[in-house]
Amino acid sequence: MSAEPETTTATATATAIVRCVRCQTEGAALKGNPFRSGTLLVAIGEELRARVCQGCYNEWLKSSVKIVNDGKLDLRDARAQHVWLSQMRSFLNVGGASDSWQRFVDRRVQIETTSKVIATATLLRADDEKLWLADFAGGAIPSGFAPMQAGAGGASGSASILRDCVLTIEESAS
Ligand SMILES: [Zn+2]
Repeated sequence: MSAEPETTTATATATAIVRCVRCQTEGAALKGNPFRSGTLLVAIGEELRARVCQGCYNEWLKSSVKIVNDGKLDLRDARAQHVWLSQMRSFLNVGGASDSWQRFVDRRVQIETTSKVIATATLLRADDEKLWLADFAGGAIPSGFAPMQAGAGGASGSASILRDCVLTIEESAS
């Protein structure tokens, strides 16, 4: 008569709990950042860990395989990554409102472009389409960056680049 129903108690390992923006319930957070360190995706990964439960993320991974196959997305391609990420944001209900790139504004950043150019500069601003940068290390504007017209709101030595052409961005030590 004293038999306790067996409950699946949480294990002793401290799993962080998040209030998930997709399923609106509390659930286990992702155990680690799902993305490779040193890439733009790390910031998004941190956002996911703070806002999305593991269960929903697993559902996204399943759905993502279908999206990649149906859309024939080659994730080595920046544009395909962009599509994949916006699908992920809408699936997980993680809007672009907290744009992870905004945190780099006014900082020195190192950018690697899809054409393998690495540039260090100060990020002036980030809009939906482009990043605006100034004070490039070495003084010259690297290839792949579009110089801004002086007098059109752009200081000399500043340039923009399409988000889709940015492979990685990280804070620069210099
Ligand atoms: Zn969830």
